[in-house]
Formats: sequence, structure tokens, C-alpha cells
Amino acid sequence: MIKLFNTLTRKKEKFVPLKDKFVRMYTCGPTCYWFAHIGNLRTYIFEDILKRVLIYNGYKVKHVMNITDVGHLVSDEDAGEDKIILASQKEKRSPLVVARFYEKAFKKDLKRLNILDPNVWIRATETIKDQIELIKILEKKGFTYIIEDGVYFDTSKLKSYGRLWPKKMEILPGARVEMVLGKKNPTDFALWKFAKERKELVWNSPWGKGFPGWHTECVVMSVKELGIPFDIHCGGIDHVLIHHTNEIAQAEAAFSKILARYWLHGEFLLVEGKKMAKSLGNIYILDDLIKKGFNPLSYRYLCLGTHYRSKLNFTFEALKSAQNALENLYEKVREIKSKIKNKKLKLKIETRNYQKEFLNFVNDDLNVPKALALMWRLIGDNKIDDHQKYFLLLDFDKIFGLRLEKVKKLRIPKEIEKLVKIRQEYRKKGDFKRADEIREKIKGMGYWIEDTKEGPKIKKVFNV
Ligand code: AMP
Ligand code: ZN
Repeated sequence: MIKLFNTLTRKKEKFVPLKDKFVRMYTCGPTCYWFAHIGNLRTYIFEDILKRVLIYNGYKVKHVMNITDVGHLVSDEDAGEDKIILASQKEKRSPLVVARFYEKAFKKDLKRLNILDPNVWIRATETIKDQIELIKILEKKGFTYIIEDGVYFDTSKLKSYGRLWPKKMEILPGARVEMVLGKKNPTDFALWKFAKERKELVWNSPWGKGFPGWHTECVVMSVKELGIPFDIHCGGIDHVLIHHTNEIAQAEAAFSKILARYWLHGEFLLVEGKKMAKSLGNIYILDDLIKKGFNPLSYRYLCLGTHYRSKLNFTFEALKSAQNALENLYEKVREIKSKIKNKKLKLKIETRNYQKEFLNFVNDDLNVPKALALMWRLIGDNKIDDHQKYFLLLDFDKIFGLRLEKVKKLRIPKEIEKLVKIRQEYRKKGDFKRADEIREKIKGMGYWIEDTKEGPKIKKVFNV
């Protein structure tokens, strides 16, 4: 049985999909105006873990992710410029060229982090007609009004508005920023914005030339692919108050149904204890980590160590520790793998218990940190033989996604072996200066030496 924390009910609930062993899941995708930063990527890693847990439990998952290539404004409250138009002005290329460029970069990031591809990618600009249809339904049902800025959703008309909100909320979303002129309530939001002077990314509509609101896009794309209601909708915690609240509102107003039954939200990544911000210069993308010599999977490992509903404070020291732990893990897997002959085997009772415990952890609202600790306990357990260990490690990795199946026997080049021998001779003679020089040389060639009781061990510097 899987239990998931549902933001809608604020409870950990037993997960039961609508159709027997089939799960329909939608995750809010990237707004493609720049590279995804490591905070965004933390959310996609959490969603990947969720999907892997469902698959591990025998569910078939239809996963839809959208690409936002229009309509996401600088402020979530329908004010400011479109992020993609701004990027296009800055980069002096057309908005769609910008959007496709960052979409490609995003997909590359997913691959590098071993995040499973969604079954369906869907772009906002390719569903404009459907979005207009939804707004027409809302208009017919009396939920809209028109002001100089565009067509707006009247939140005071929907009794259930704000279902995702915590009970005590002092400031209403929208009240914090300057209200769009003519808006009836601070929480009202744009369904269709008028083009005014804007020339690009605009379409004709029954209300005039313009472009859709970001919250409308996600309802349309999810329902188009998954129907209504579907099972799981996820995103980052920042989407609770506005974006997802407004998605739910439109679906309820138009179809009298809840859009999705389980709403899951990943907590934020902080950098050195602070929110990521351009002004603080603390926004990192995956390439920044790679340039500093980190393996993308070290970042994945770092994320696995903190529960998705807790804040994760990113520091380079923490990433270094994660990388060390991952290198260590690969080394252990390599060792275990080198000792086994027969890959076909049956699980023994005590090994099964490990698997049961693992399942209990991951099914308990994705308690991956505990599952990770269990994996290390397994590695150090002398009562479990190597065959069983190897089998289980690969099994656990179906969820961790650390590519343990790719760990291969190390082939040490003759040249390196020779240098290690020379270094040993220097050490015996007490010439540690020369020995250290050789160690550095070896490092430059991609290997490093660990001096153990049994003698020097050669390891490979992480391949990025
Ligand atoms: P965006 O491309 O801005 O629509 O954001 C993509 C995803 O990243 C959304 O699910 C956001 O909620 C999430 N997100 C944004 N900032 C952070 C952060 N600092 N930590 C974790 N997730 C974030
Ligand atoms: Zn969305």
C-alpha cells in the first residue's frame, strides 16, 4: 500500500488510482525562458522518484509533462512581461527559438539526471484552440468578466475557491502586488490577456487578439491528455497558493469536477540557507556543477538524502559529500560485482526482509532518505552474500536511479599501475615528496590512490 501526502486534504492518504493498476499523472513542466536551475531540478527529481515508486509497485503510469512556451508572466499574479518575450528581447532571437532552445537544454538535463522521460510532452502554444474552448465554457457559465487588460476569472463566483490553501492565511495571493486595473478581487486571474502592443506569441480569439493565461494552459493540457479527474498532479510548493489553486478553480467551474485527486508538492531548495535569486548571484544550473567537476548524479544523490517535503539547503560541501558517498557506493558495487559469478538467483528470506523494509519506506510518502540508509546497512551486512546484495542493490536502484547497473570492473591502464609501483618504492624509501608528486600526476590522468592496510587501491576520478 502506498501512502502519499495530499495537499488537498493535508493528510497522508492511501493511494488508490481511479483505474485499477493504471495511474494518470501530470507534472507542471518548465517555463522555457532560461536553463532549469537546480531548485527546479530538485522538483523534477522528486517527481521522478514518485513515478518510479508507482512503477515499482506494479502500476502502469501515464505521465504528462507540459512545456510552457507562452503566458508565464514575471509575476504569478498576471502582472509584468511574459518571461519568454523578455528572454527573446535580451537574446535577440524570436520567442519560439528561445523556447525551443531551452526546452532542448531541459530535456538534456533530465537525461543527465537519469529522470525518466514523460510519456507525453505537450506545449502550450500547440493547444491554444483548446484553451479558447475552455474560456468559452467558463464564460458561458458566468465565471468571467472582461477588463481593459483581458478576460478574467471571477473567483468570488466559485464557492470552493482556494481548496488547497492552508486554513489560516493572512495575505491573499494577489494582494501583495499591485492589482491589475479593474480586477474585481485580488485573487481573480487572467484567462486571456489582450495583446495591446505585443506583436509576437499572440492569437486571435472571440475576445480579441491576445494570449492565454498560464493557469489556463495547465488545465487544458492535463485534461486533454488525461481526462478529468486524473490521479496525481504535482509541482513545487510555490504552486500551491496560485497556480494550482487557479487550475482547480477553472476545472471545477467548467466541469464541476476536481481536476486531480492527489496533489503533491515538493519543498524548495535553498542555496547557502537563502532563496535563490539573481540579486544574490546564487542561482546555479546543472552545467555550473558539471564545470566544477561534479557528476550530475551526485546532485541526484544529494536530493535523495532529504525528504521531498523538507527544505534542502544546497552547499558545495554537501554536494562534495554526496559525490564522495556516490563514489564510495560505486566502489562497493564494483567490489561486490567482481565477486559474483551466477547472476540468476533466488532471494533468501533475510534478503526478502530487506526488500520488504525498503518497500515500506518508499511507500510511506516516499521516504527515500530512510531507504538510502537501508541500502548502506545492506552493504555492510556480513550475513548477506554478495549475490543477494547485488540483486537487491539493482532492485533498489529502480527507485534511486543512480545507474548502478552501469558500474563496471575497473580497467587500470598499465601506465598507471607502473606509476603506482614507483610511488610505493618512494614511500618505502621515505621520499614522500616524490611520492606525492606521482600521486598528483596519477590524479591528472584521471585516477587516484587510496592507501589502505592491504596496500594502495587505485580508483577512478569521477567521470562526468
Ligand atoms: P518554472 O519553470 O518556473 O515553472 O518552475 C519549474 C518547477 O520548479 C515548478 O514545479 C516550481 O514549483 C519548481 N521550483 C521553482 N523554484 C524552486 C526551488 N527553489 N526549489 C524547488 N523547486 C522549485
Ligand atoms: Zn502548471
